[in-house]
Amino acid sequence: MNAQRERYAREGISETIPVKSTTRIRRWFRLDSESLTPYRTRIVAALSLPAALLLLPFTMTHLLYGRWGLAVVIAIAQVVLFVDGRAASRNLPPPVPHLALAMILMVVVFASLAFQGINGALWAYPTLFICYFILPRGRALGVSSVIVVAVSLIAYDSLGGALAARLAATLALTLGMINVVLNVIDDLQQALQDQAVTDALTGAYNRRRFDEELARIELTAAQGQTCTLLTLDVDHFKRVNDTYGHAVGDEVLRRVAALIKARKRRDDMLFRIGGEEFALLLPGCGATEAAALAEVLRKRIEQAEMPAGQCITVSVGVANHIVGDTPEAWARRVDAALYLAKRQGRNRVIVSGLTAPAEQIQPVSV
Ligand code: GH3
Ligand code: MG
Ligand code: MG
Repeated sequence: MNAQRERYAREGISETIPVKSTTRIRRWFRLDSESLTPYRTRIVAALSLPAALLLLPFTMTHLLYGRWGLAVVIAIAQVVLFVDGRAASRNLPPPVPHLALAMILMVVVFASLAFQGINGALWAYPTLFICYFILPRGRALGVSSVIVVAVSLIAYDSLGGALAARLAATLALTLGMINVVLNVIDDLQQALQDQAVTDALTGAYNRRRFDEELARIELTAAQGQTCTLLTLDVDHFKRVNDTYGHAVGDEVLRRVAALIKARKRRDDMLFRIGGEEFALLLPGCGATEAAALAEVLRKRIEQAEMPAGQCITVSVGVANHIVGDTPEAWARRVDAALYLAKRQGRNRVIVSGLTAPAEQIQPVSV
């Protein structure tokens, strides 16, 4: 690991883009997970009306026995469930924000527990699920954690330590299980999305993902982040196919992709954008640093062992993103640099705006 760090430093390439600690926490708890977001309206439409109806007998019973406070709190929850459910079934935004609905349900749980003891505490379990169904992951975690802690404390006060401990343990377990199941859904969704944007031969991202990323970079670059794009085209690749056949050609492409992947940083993205053309997107990286990396890659590929003992070389174009660049303009500048590398004899790196091969540029330490 240290040797790798030293090598990065020697070659003048910063190892990773610094990640803020808040970002790390968000990643760890998956607070930005969006796996249920597209289904939220459908879930609210399906669940709210039955839930409102299910609560009706309880409201009636509390009214009958004169437990007015509890009856009113549950009736408010029913009305909100009804209006939000009705809006969702018509594909309209919720008249009462979902966070307010979650808060109301939380109050119902507290009131039920306070008035009815353990019978009331049972409502905490479905409420945890509802929070995750109707709220974004971060908010759901916040509200449901408050429910677990507050229910345990209220139960400790009114029902004693033994029951409170069991409530705390089973609620925490339920909360944990909800999160685990959502993580699995997240991972499955991610795997499907990755499959749709991954090239099956090389494992690099495909052209579709490339276009999406360029559009996204346009936005982040507007906020001041530097970014550089490399395109690498295998030289005289047609000859490989013609001489050794398509299968050997495929193996060469796999090897080239693997060599680039082995050398890229964690946040860099590799794409296969044409038959024998790859693109490497380097966020947080300027043109000089990118040129140094391109030169390393070019040499590695030239020196690598390839099928049928061939010597494979690549030509590379490099261009950093300039504020105001459209994805097309940026890609055109990289293409122009690559074209120049081909015209100057192949097996070289050309940086957009410079006509000298990158070999002659001194890499800088960062
Ligand atoms: P240059 O140095 O100018 O880039 O020459 P080249 O021969 O590499 O470029 P050209 O565009 O003439 O040929 C590219 C070849 O790549 C033609 C095509 O048959 C081959 N190719 C495209 N996709 C694949 C693939 O998935 N597998 C294999 N084996 N060959 C492919
Ligand atoms: Mg080629
Ligand atoms: Mg080509």
